[in-house]
Amino acid sequence: MKCRNCKSQLNHQFADLGSTPLANSLLSSIKQLKSEKHYKLKILICNKCWLVQTLDQVKHSKIFNNDYVYFSSFSKYWLNHSRLFVDKAIKNFKLNENSFVVEVASNDGYLLQYFKNHSIPCLGIEPTKNTAAKSEEKGIMTIKEFFTESLAKKLRKKKYLADLIIANNVLAHVPDVKDFVKGFALLLKSNGVACFEFPHLYNLIKYKQFDTIYHEHFSYFSFISVNNIFKECGLKIIDVEKIQSHGGSLRIYAQRKDNSKIKINNRVKNLIDFEKKNGINNLKLYLKFQEKIDGVTNKFKKFIHKASAENKKIIAYGAAAKGNTLLNYAEIKSDVIKYVVDLNPSKQNKFMPGSGIPIFEEKIIKEYRPDYIIILPWNLKDEIKSNLKYVRNWGAKFVTAIPKLDIS
Ligand SMILES: [Zn+2]
Repeated sequence: MKCRNCKSQLNHQFADLGSTPLANSLLSSIKQLKSEKHYKLKILICNKCWLVQTLDQVKHSKIFNNDYVYFSSFSKYWLNHSRLFVDKAIKNFKLNENSFVVEVASNDGYLLQYFKNHSIPCLGIEPTKNTAAKSEEKGIMTIKEFFTESLAKKLRKKKYLADLIIANNVLAHVPDVKDFVKGFALLLKSNGVACFEFPHLYNLIKYKQFDTIYHEHFSYFSFISVNNIFKECGLKIIDVEKIQSHGGSLRIYAQRKDNSKIKINNRVKNLIDFEKKNGINNLKLYLKFQEKIDGVTNKFKKFIHKASAENKKIIAYGAAAKGNTLLNYAEIKSDVIKYVVDLNPSKQNKFMPGSGIPIFEEKIIKEYRPDYIIILPWNLKDEIKSNLKYVRNWGAKFVTAIPKLDIS
């Protein structure tokens, strides 16, 4: 396979997580488990442009289809994070009734609703129809398509030029990342700003977050690799912030390269230097990762099989995609984890892909009184622990596997 960005031949492996079904394709019946399609989950590293990328296996449209089950508005954390971002953006970029804001992968309108509250015109672009429908119910104009260079051209012709384009947690989801990024240069006004958030590869490696690897994520970005891509797509990164989401993400701001008034914050150079110092441009860092994955997985397996042998009642919380990567790589099934609880009604009464563990609503916890609750979306563990405080009444404990086994 050739690099998605620079087209060099990919010769080095970052991670091999075996063969798994798609992490977001929940089963509606346990009978489907037998006929489930598995795909290799192998991740490669380009030693020319340093883009970490999934072996090309699965079509984009197979993943982000109309049964897509991730609704951003189910997490209070995300809603709050988005509201704070919107307030900051309005102030920093002096947005008002005459501005125009576009969000790519606008999901159910979880973020744009706050611009709408301030009467700032906005447009969502969201290919999954069920989430887009929710966004339209909130009164947000939404185009139900994948964002591409060609869609950006069409919008530009219609004079839909943006003062601000937001694309949070979507860069990784795009197979042709260059075509995608080029679209931003086309859709921005000459002084407009594009803002992206994505999990920082530095943290994925440092905190062993290998469960964030699944087929839905085609690329994993360091700041160095994202700089390499943007440069070639007509954008210049002008600033960067470190933020807490997804176990440590970057928020980057970019402008059109042809904007003559660009001022680049020192943070940009500092982060590139930091990454170089930490080996992001050195193959050695990547070749050591599989060993870390196996270390984390083995500790988790040992704990869970021991607890199960002692007849402890074990359940999991959060039918998140990352949970499926962990459970499937650790080969844990419903004989050990009895069920997963999730607040999202469209996930309830379905089954986790690969493991076949059923998904139920939260009220079952009070009847079942589990001994251990494995929190699969560890990035939301504080919110989850505080919502489930009542399990302490019968002495239940919370478990997270990453970055290291934690039982508390
Ligand atoms: Zn490359």
